[in-house]
Amino acid sequence: MKSALITGITGQDGPYLAELLISKGYKVYGLVRRLSTPNMENIQHIYDKIELLSGDLLDQGSLTDAIKNSKPDEVYNLAAQSFVKASWDQPVLTGEFTALGVTRILEAIRTVDPKIKFYQASSSEMFGKVTETPQKETTRFHPRSPYGVAKVYGHYITLNYRESYNIFACSGILFNHESPRRGIEFVTRKITNAVARISLGKQNKLELGSLEPKRDWGFSGDYVEAMWLMLQQEKADDYVIATGENHSVKEFVQEAFKVVGISDWEKYVVANEPKHMRPAEVDYLIGDASKAQKVLGWKPKTSFKELVEMMVKADLEREQNK
Ligand code: NDP
Ligand code: GDP
Repeated sequence: MKSALITGITGQDGPYLAELLISKGYKVYGLVRRLSTPNMENIQHIYDKIELLSGDLLDQGSLTDAIKNSKPDEVYNLAAQSFVKASWDQPVLTGEFTALGVTRILEAIRTVDPKIKFYQASSSEMFGKVTETPQKETTRFHPRSPYGVAKVYGHYITLNYRESYNIFACSGILFNHESPRRGIEFVTRKITNAVARISLGKQNKLELGSLEPKRDWGFSGDYVEAMWLMLQQEKADDYVIATGENHSVKEFVQEAFKVVGISDWEKYVVANEPKHMRPAEVDYLIGDASKAQKVLGWKPKTSFKELVEMMVKADLEREQNK
């Protein structure tokens, strides 16, 4: 029986990856940090199928112990301070979690068992102010936020441990991916939650920042399969994972209101709210995942329209049951 340790198991991607690995017969361990009120909502449904270990990206000893105790074949490092906007408010902490946290886990692997395979959750935010369209593995990085800068560090330290210690370490450069489990502060979930509440008469305004930025939005459940596939190859490598299609925030808003049958959406939306604007914006992301398709045989299954519909319907159900 293979085993895997997932950091960030309580987030969005962690539970989808855990479900996939459980279905493949893995013993799944999840790293959770101590919080005064544990955040278990996303893993409730698999709670009895996984084993949780205590640890924090800030604490080297706890990471080393987690790896010693779980003896995993594979480690998926999904934990991070992952919200771009918050990275300007807490740039140092973002660097500690999202950048140095990667080195701490790699150090734990190197010292406990360098044969453990490693996946690093890298991000299209590394491309930032894009120098080429669509963006692929060889596109130059120009991050636009402390988060993006921290992810560039995480990407290169992953490559460095591969080259320095021959660790099977892969970096998945994933474009935005969403789901009903997405954190409420991200624009997609913020929109689908507000649309559900507006249609139920519980809210009458949706305040947003800029409606112009475009993102290549895919479904988290599709993307975790690519993470697993990367670790099943002969050779460790880096891959862009994306749909190859992008949409503006405005298009997302329109599509979400369409799901609940509201066409005069402008009545409810306040755009360009200063508190939701960013000191530096990433205007346009679109990925070229042809390497992943060729080498891993991966391609996305869920369309933009299906994704928006899935998220609005899930929020409607949640709000109706409240
Ligand atoms: P989430 O923000 O939903 O989850 C982050 C996870 O990290 C949570 O489980 C959180 O735990 C955990 N975490 C945060 N800080 C620490 C810490 N100090 N020690 C231990 N655990 C910690 O992220 P997603 O699931 O959306 O994304 C997974 C990874 O992929 C992240 O690294 C993200 O940056 C990256 N990524 C995501 C993309 C996306 O579009 N979703 C795109 C590209 C990359 P807690 O519950 O305690 O807060
Ligand atoms: P990101 O791509 O990782 O930064 O994911 P987000 O979902 O946080 O943001 C996607 C895009 O939506 C960015 O260009 C934001 O500036 C834009 N956006 C516009 N209004 C909002 C808002 O109210 N909240 C968030 N989170 N993003 C917004």
